[in-house]
Amino acid sequence: MIFMICEMCGKDVTFLRKVTIEGVALEVCSECAKFGVEAKKEAPKEVGPKPIIAQRLEQREKRGRPRDVLEKGEKEDLVEDFGALIRTAREHAGMTQKELAMKINERVTILSKIESNQMRPDEKVISKLQRELGIVLKENVPDVVAAKESARASLTLADHIKMRKE
Ligand SMILES: [Zn+2]
Repeated sequence: MIFMICEMCGKDVTFLRKVTIEGVALEVCSECAKFGVEAKKEAPKEVGPKPIIAQRLEQREKRGRPRDVLEKGEKEDLVEDFGALIRTAREHAGMTQKELAMKINERVTILSKIESNQMRPDEKVISKLQRELGIVLKENVPDVVAAKESARASLTLADHIKMRKE
């Protein structure tokens, strides 16, 4: 009688079964075969395409997500009436267009176009205007702050009520 050794438990057996245990192909005894998946010719074919489709779906999701966020961000970032906001803030500060333009190191014609909403200021100009005029030109920023503030306020209120009861 010919004996073979089970690759899993090392037992001498007369019959070995080809199985896959945790992704490793092994020749094992019938006892150990219970822990694995019987190796079949069809198995790789079935397993193969699924991860690829899953990967592609994942990639498509990954590609789609940041772009959606970015598009959304671009639309929502700058307030719609940024021009009026800048003009009002500038007038409040008692500055002429020329004075403000000099302070932010931009041309008066550009500032004039921005103030009349004919031109969207780029990120650099937005941050300079925000700093110089003490205004917020990004719509989502005050929203987040407002949400945080109101959350804190309600918490404080709840705390006060709780405190009074106690
Ligand atoms: Zn075994």
